[in-house]
Amino acid sequence: MAATGLPHPVLVDVARRAVESADPEQVEASAAESADRLARSLLQPVINATGVLLHTNLGRAPLSVGIDAGYANLELDLTSGRRGDRSSHAASLLALASGAEAALVVNNGAAAVLLVLAALAAGRDVLVSRGEAVEIGGGFRIPEVMAQSGARLVDVGTTNRTRAGDYRAAVSADTALLLKVHRSNFTVNGFTESADPAELVGLGPPVVVDLGSGLLDRRTPWLAGGPPAWLRDEPAVRQTLEAGAAVVTFSGDKLLGGPQAGIIAGRADLVERCRRHPLARALRPGSLVLHALQQVALAYLDRHAGEQLPLWRMATTDVEELRRRARGLDAGRLIDCQSVVGGGALPGITIASAGVELDGDRSPALRAGRPPVIATVRDGRTICDLRTVLPEQDHLLADALKR
Ligand SMILES: *Cc1c(COP(=O)(O)O)cnc(C)c1O
Repeated sequence: MAATGLPHPVLVDVARRAVESADPEQVEASAAESADRLARSLLQPVINATGVLLHTNLGRAPLSVGIDAGYANLELDLTSGRRGDRSSHAASLLALASGAEAALVVNNGAAAVLLVLAALAAGRDVLVSRGEAVEIGGGFRIPEVMAQSGARLVDVGTTNRTRAGDYRAAVSADTALLLKVHRSNFTVNGFTESADPAELVGLGPPVVVDLGSGLLDRRTPWLAGGPPAWLRDEPAVRQTLEAGAAVVTFSGDKLLGGPQAGIIAGRADLVERCRRHPLARALRPGSLVLHALQQVALAYLDRHAGEQLPLWRMATTDVEELRRRARGLDAGRLIDCQSVVGGGALPGITIASAGVELDGDRSPALRAGRPPVIATVRDGRTICDLRTVLPEQDHLLADALKR
C-alpha cells in the first residue's frame, strides 16, 4: 500500500474500510487493491494513443504550460500601481489575435454562451434556427441554456432548412439577438440550407455566433504549410467577425489548443456589458487558466503556435514521420490508421495517420501501466495511433507495448 505514495491518513482510511467490509482472510489484499484503485483515480499524465486529438476524457487539448510559483499581477496595473483588470492580459491578446475589438475569458464555452445571453438578452427574444437548437456533448442544450439565462428562445425556420428570410420575418421590437450555433458534433446532409452570419447582419439585432471550436483564423498563419485540408469547412473567429458578427463565443480547449476556458470576443460595448454582468464574477477563471491562455495567445501572435502548441504540432505531423516513429517503437505490427479531431469538433473528418497494433484487447493492461496508455480496440485488435503521442513519450509507449 505504501508503494502507492498516498498520504498516511488516506491509507489508514482505506485500511479501516477494508477491515469493515472484507472477509478477514482478504483484508490485506482488499486494502491493497483499494489503495491502488484510489491512486489511479487521481489526476496524472497519460499517453493518448487513441488518435483523437481533442479527447474529452483526456482533457481535450494537450496542455503545455510552465507557470512559476508565486504571485502574479492578476488585477494590478504595473504602470499606474492601481487596481487592474483580469481581462487586460490573456483576453486582450486573444482579441488582438482574432481581430476582435475586445474579449472576455470565462470558465468554458457553455459559460460564455450563458453570459452573453444573460447580459445581452435577458427578458427579450433570441432567434435561433430550428436546425441549431442543438445539444453539444455533456448536456449543453441551447434551449436549456437559454432558459437559464432569462432570454426567450424564438425558433425560426425548420430542422433542415432555415433562410435569412425566416429570421427577417421573426424580428420584432423584442428581438435582442440573432444566435447562430455551429453544429460542432454532427452533420446534416441532403436537402439543407442555413443562413450565413453575413446574411443576417443587415436585419438589425446583433448577430452572435457560438463557434465552439475556436479556430482563430481560417488562413492559419501560424502553420508554415498553410491550412490543412481537413480544416476546410470549419468556421473561424476572425472571418466570422469580419462577416459582421457582433460577438462570437468559443472554447479554449478545442482548436485553440489551450486550457479549459470560454472566450467571448467581439464589439467592445457588448463585451463590456458581459463583463459588468453579475454572473461574470461567478464564471471567471483563476490566474492559472489566464496564465496558460496568455501563453497560448502569445504563441498565436508570434505565429509560433504551429510549433509551440502541442495540439497543432500533433495535428500537422506528416504521416511519413509518424510511420518512421512507429518503426522506431520496435513493438507491434506497423499500420496506417485514421486520426480524428474529436472533442465534438469536425465530425466525420479523418486525418491520415500511422501507428502499431497488437492482437486482442490489450487496453486494460496498457491502462494499468505507468504512465497509463490509452489505446483503441477495434475488431479484436488494439491500435496505438502515434499522432496523439508526444515524440518524447515514444520510448514509454514502446516499453508498455513490450510488457
Ligand atoms: C463545445 C461547444 C460548446 C460548449 O463548450 P464547453 O467549453 O464544452 O463548455 C458550446 N457550443 C458549441 C458550438 C460547442 O462546440
